[in-house]
Amino acid sequence: MYFITKEFTFDAGHRLLYYKGACHNLHGHTYKLQVTVVPTSETLSKDGMVIDFSIMKGIIKKWLDETYDHCMMLNVEDMKVKELCRDLGLKWIGFPCEPTAENMARIFYSELKGLFASQGIASIALSKIDIWETPTSKASYYE
Ligand SMILES: [Zn+2]
Repeated sequence: MYFITKEFTFDAGHRLLYYKGACHNLHGHTYKLQVTVVPTSETLSKDGMVIDFSIMKGIIKKWLDETYDHCMMLNVEDMKVKELCRDLGLKWIGFPCEPTAENMARIFYSELKGLFASQGIASIALSKIDIWETPTSKASYYE
């Protein structure tokens, strides 16, 4: 079976609301995201591809730039920081959980699955999401 992977990096901030340690503070990472897909057919296109990498790049990069790049990722229960972000007009997004790499991987998986479906991309199925929070720390999610 073929596995096709496209890699991206983006910068974002977060804090872990209930964590007792350094990550309770507002801070940021340069995240690395790998999106792995598998073909839904046994045969390659006549161009010899599962999917053109540039098509994957276009769809995923737009979603990533618009939604997460230079964004503050917050637990929705983080009322004071949410209010501060609103007051200052900052880009932020609320997670129904702590914005850890593990939760990001699961949420990204769900969002990208929906994005591929809404774009009518039938030749591939999402296989796995890998998120590196640091060069040595990665969380993965697949179903
Ligand atoms: Zn962090």
